[in-house]
Amino acid sequence: MNAAKRRELFQRLRADNPSPTTELEYETPFQLLAAVLLSAQSTDKGVNIATRTLFKAAPTPAAMVFLGVDGVKEHIQTIGLFNTKAANLVRTAELLLQRHGGEVPADRAALEALPGVGRKTANVVLNTAFGEPTMAVDTHIFRVANRTGLGRGKTPLQVEQRLLKAVPAEFLQDAHHWLILHGRYTCTARRPRCWGCSIADLCEYPLSKRTQCAEQAPPNPVVTASNPRNTK
Ligand code: SF4
Repeated sequence: MNAAKRRELFQRLRADNPSPTTELEYETPFQLLAAVLLSAQSTDKGVNIATRTLFKAAPTPAAMVFLGVDGVKEHIQTIGLFNTKAANLVRTAELLLQRHGGEVPADRAALEALPGVGRKTANVVLNTAFGEPTMAVDTHIFRVANRTGLGRGKTPLQVEQRLLKAVPAEFLQDAHHWLILHGRYTCTARRPRCWGCSIADLCEYPLSKRTQCAEQAPPNPVVTASNPRNTK
């Protein structure tokens, strides 16, 4: 995709949703880190239900350590992998207290040294809590980048590196939110809603693979980035 098309694509996504952000609920960088840790293989909606009571009981690293692994489990047992996630979350809280004075570090290496924190989680925290123009490539971004031709790659890291070069600088800060929302609500994994897609004329996904009308789509209602519903 050439530079003019890439710019036009992000202008349209911005017009649909001028201030995109994560659908995870949080009030502090620690709570964002905790929510992202809990969100692996779970929906944002499910994580939000769990964290509403968890963050009331333990809003800070010190309180999370005090609550302990069993206490955390009581709040998050509705989400997948909750045993491992509870242990990682409490250990992460301990390490934040030991190494960083109870603060979340704005540093990739320090973040990735925490249990359960990989490159994608670090990218989300660096972008959303600290305003760094990182690209957290999840399953939605991976699919949208490959289909549209914005940044093709065989691995999330390849796609991340290509997108960081391909996205015009003025859109980089918000690009990962726009692409996630586009993948979650429009360019869905099964039968993308191409007939109502605002970037269809820019997209390089073969016409033969696109859905052409609403009748070809799954039965749930049309949702777009400007009318988001969590269907992850
Ligand atoms: S046209 Fe279809 S494949 Fe291309 S971005 Fe839109 S929904 Fe995705």
